[in-house]
Amino acid sequence: MSVEESPRNLQQYKRFKTNDEGRKTSTSIEQIKTEAAIERFYDRFEQLSALDQTLPKLHRADHARYLQTSLEQLSTAYECLDSSRPWLVYWILNAASVLNLRFNDDLLERVVDFLGRCRGKDGGFGGGPGQDPHLATTYAAVNALCIIGTEKALNTINRETLKKFLWAVREGNGAFRMHVGGELDVRGAYCAISSAKLASFTPEDEMKLFDGTAAWVAECQTYEGGFGGAPGLEAHGGYSFCAAAAIMILGGEDRCDLNALLRWTVNRQMAYEGGFQGRTNKLVDGCYSFWQGALVPIVQSLIARKEQQQHVKTVSLFNRMALQEYVLICCQKPTGGLIDKPGKPADLYHTCYAMSGLAVAQHCDAVPLVLGDERNEVLPTHPVHNIPPKAALDAYRYFVELDAPESAAEECNGKTTGTGTPMDTSENGSDRQSSSNMSEDGSSNSNYTSSRTSE
Ligand SMILES: [Zn+2]
Repeated sequence: MSVEESPRNLQQYKRFKTNDEGRKTSTSIEQIKTEAAIERFYDRFEQLSALDQTLPKLHRADHARYLQTSLEQLSTAYECLDSSRPWLVYWILNAASVLNLRFNDDLLERVVDFLGRCRGKDGGFGGGPGQDPHLATTYAAVNALCIIGTEKALNTINRETLKKFLWAVREGNGAFRMHVGGELDVRGAYCAISSAKLASFTPEDEMKLFDGTAAWVAECQTYEGGFGGAPGLEAHGGYSFCAAAAIMILGGEDRCDLNALLRWTVNRQMAYEGGFQGRTNKLVDGCYSFWQGALVPIVQSLIARKEQQQHVKTVSLFNRMALQEYVLICCQKPTGGLIDKPGKPADLYHTCYAMSGLAVAQHCDAVPLVLGDERNEVLPTHPVHNIPPKAALDAYRYFVELDAPESAAEECNGKTTGTGTPMDTSENGSDRQSSSNMSEDGSSNSNYTSSRTSE
């Protein structure tokens, strides 16, 4: 185990705490306050771990109870998210998947029925039954249905009307609005291509629908290296993830300054806290464990693809132990659920993304790296779609099979050939390719990219 892959000596890392050199600003005051709160957690942890060396522990049972209760009945605190109900479902299901927790079939069937009622008659999914379709809730619903993965769940994604909806929110230049007449930002491009990829649109449909999209996304890169929500806006972790994940699927990395993106991303990991901030000069936040944490291996894969240097992907370029320390020591509520930072309440959004970040930290390399007891190991998540890798592959295959003649479908299922690599179908006889993999073999990605040179 190299130095970077060992748990940190937290006492020594105190030297990285902020020194404002006597010049206080509201930013430095908040930063110092946050570091002090985290220091209390790390100090307490060091005392406790001197008595019990199996610490820190992932509070699996508490999180499982929290997620189970939330899926059955939410508290009134969530009323304000009435227009985000497919998101709530997705956050619960994905966090549960990372924990290897499966809900009972009756409950999942009710979830599928509910998501079906959120589907608009002209395509896409709204925030609740009867609400207008929105790209964000469409992404969440498609992801949730792929995680459930039953035939009924996958059939709830109506690909014909989904296509119609994506065309309705597409602009002439390939950018996407979040809903008809709504705001235009890089989330739109990501939500659209991620959903289209999981639903396995034909290459011809994809080519037309996403003509110009990668070029528009590339315009959102800022002087800092990260991406803003739209051209000219500030670099931000969530938007940078959306941009890089979209480019990973679409191709178009030649248009981006990947070294600048990598430098910006790795510098968002906080030296003392161990977690990530979303923007320069902002505070650490548990949800960026995924948005920034997953961005690092995605950018590495993009660089490897662009420069045809596969070895770029073999080293981890962020401190995976430090991120696990932040999530496990600072972000777990003893009553279940995960949080933004000490002092904040648990919520489903932070539970999903802090847990997903933990999965990325443990599994972004071929060899899992687990902080503490081996029982802390969680399951991996697909860094581009943020659902279980097998759920992404199964959904993709299911839809290819629906379209394909029988023989091609058999090949797609790996009955004749196949590499066994998640989402990699480029070498198994299907003429449809999926590039949204983060596999060891980048060849399918390169092929896919070269077939999309129009962008
Ligand atoms: Zn957050």
